[in-house]
Parts: sequence; structure tokens; C-alpha cells
Amino acid sequence: MKAVAALPGSAEAHLVDLPAPRAPEEGEVLVRTLRLGICGTDREILKSRQPAVPVGEPFLVLGHECVGEVVAVGPGVTDLKRGQKVVPMVRRPNGTFRRSPDFLAMNQFVERGILGAHGFSSPYWIDRPEHLVAVRPYLDAELAVLAEPLSVVMKALRQAVTLQLSRLPDNAWRAELPRVLVTGLGPLAFVALIGCIFHHWPTTVYGRDAPGSPRARLVERLGGRYLCETEWPEWDDRRVEEHGFDMLLECTGDCRVLLRCAEALASCGVAAWLGSSRSPEPILCNFPHLVRLAVIRNHLHFGSVNASLNDVCSALLVLEEWGKTFPREIHDVFTERVELEQAPRLFTHRPAHSIKSLVVYA
Ligand code: BGC
Repeated sequence: MKAVAALPGSAEAHLVDLPAPRAPEEGEVLVRTLRLGICGTDREILKSRQPAVPVGEPFLVLGHECVGEVVAVGPGVTDLKRGQKVVPMVRRPNGTFRRSPDFLAMNQFVERGILGAHGFSSPYWIDRPEHLVAVRPYLDAELAVLAEPLSVVMKALRQAVTLQLSRLPDNAWRAELPRVLVTGLGPLAFVALIGCIFHHWPTTVYGRDAPGSPRARLVERLGGRYLCETEWPEWDDRRVEEHGFDMLLECTGDCRVLLRCAEALASCGVAAWLGSSRSPEPILCNFPHLVRLAVIRNHLHFGSVNASLNDVCSALLVLEEWGKTFPREIHDVFTERVELEQAPRLFTHRPAHSIKSLVVYA
């Protein structure tokens, strides 16, 4: 069977041959891939030309946003049955730790499709039930592919609320809903919008596309407000409190965007950093200004990666709800659909104005 893989030294995605799927052994299940999402991390791995291949392997099979269907269960598996749709957890601890895997240090885990373990772009793969989350039958399989990126957002939102509650017990964003600013128009920004609108938080998305263009319109159709960079106002102290934001979800990984948007973060605002580059290039920007704003306005900045099992479950619940409320709009997040043979091109190059590229399996 074929799979999309990253090879050391190459910036292109390759279709590689893998052995035919084997029968699951004790405690394992065999899963058939239904849909696979492509994201910025896949493209960054390729761009680096240094994929973290599993020990002794010549390549890394890509793909970490996946929904599949259990087709065979090995001896001893009782909690999953054939026909069950599942989404896999990306991160796997390589030992026994007290912390949830998403809070482990870099040397304490592998990530399927990203770091030291093969991903899910092959039509079949083997896994263990403890790493799989069941998808309920009424959630559209296509939407379930968003569970992984949305879980990353759910974790960040959960932390932002907890942190805010711990330092501002009076406000805690209950009486007054946080005004949210999401940066970027990529897949992470769109799932961030989906997560915030689910909480009924007034959400603005900041991007470069012209107002009225397809992605800007989709922001509005999903219930957000779109703010084009050309319409960015000057933020004085008064304006920032009256019209600024209480939460910033930085999804571009661009420090200039972070710096600019931090100016619109009101007093006691919280900024979650979700985007970053794997091979950051130094740039000139006024970092002391970010520090000054953070100090003077009690800003809280934190970075967040991956997600816990609970976050994946919350993401699935949000998607079930969205599937009912915005069935058409949410599918418009999938801007490209290709079969496996055409997928390498999309893994390497992100089309202009793309949101989520999807690989559809037969
Ligand atoms: C994935 C996370 C992963 C992170 C770092 C992201 O693209 O969504 O699950 O932990 O990359 O490798």
C-alpha cells in the first residue's frame, strides 16, 4: 500500500510503498483511513528536510489529522468493535509519566506522523485502542478530521480560562464574555474561530485577505467578524479598553502579527501562542514594546501545544454541534479534496487562499 512520506534531505513529499496491512495482534486494532487533513506542520516538516524518522527507518510516513474506521480487532480488544469510527491521538508517551502527554518534555514522547513514529497517510494502519477516541455515529466523518486541530484550540481556551480565573476571580469571563482576536486565515485560525463561537464569545479574525473575499466571507458566515490588516486602527489606552480584545489566539507564528495584535489586547488580556515556525528566521521587531505592553497592562502570554484526551472529546462535541448548526459553512473549511495519489503535491505546496486540504480515501 502507498503512503505519503518525508525523506531526509528532500523538501518534497513522496509516495512510498509500505507492506500490505497485517492482521492486528493481541491488544491491537487495524484501522482503515477515511479522511486525512494536511496542516502547516506537515509542510514545515518537509521544508526542514529533516523529518524525525522512526529509529531505523528511511522515511517518516506523514499525516496526523485523521479519521478512520476499525476493520479488525486483535485478541483481547473489548472496547472497540469493527465499524467503529475513530480519531487517533497524535502524541504517545515513551514511558510512564504522571502528566498528560501534551505536557511532557520533548524527549518523553513520540508523535505519529510528526516525531519518531509513522503517521496515518497509509490506507490502513495498526494502533492500540488506548490511543483512539471513538467518534459517535451522528458526527460526519469528514468533520471528525478537524478534531485534532480543534483539540489544540480547546486546550488553549481551557488554559486561558483557568489561568484567568486563578488571577481574576471577580471577572473570570463569565459575566462579561471575553472579546477574542484570532490571527490568520489558515486552518488553525478557522478552528479557533469555531471553538470561540461555540462558547458564544464575540470573535474577530485578523487577516490579509481583502474584505468580502471568500475566506473573509467564511469568517462572517461562521459567526465571526473579519478585520483586514489594512483596516487596523490606532489603539490608544481608551480605545483598547472600549474596543480591544481580552483574548488573543495567535495562529500565524509571525512575531510581527503578535506584536501588532498585542497592542489591541486590553488590560489583563491573555494571549495564547498556537502558531510557530520549526526553523525560525531572525527578524527585526520591537520586542521591548511587547514586554512594555505586557507589564503595563498585566498581559499574560503563554504557549500551548498538542492536547489531552479531554480536549479531543470536547472538540468532537463541538463538531457534533457545528455539524447541526452550520452544516454547509463548516464544510467550506475544506478548500481542497484529493485522493492519495495526488496528495504529495498538496503536502508540499499550500495553494493560495487554502484553508484545510483533505485527502479522501476510497
Ligand atoms: C499538532 C500537535 C503537535 C504539534 C507539535 C501540531 O501540528 O496538531 O498535535 O503536538 O504539531 O508537533
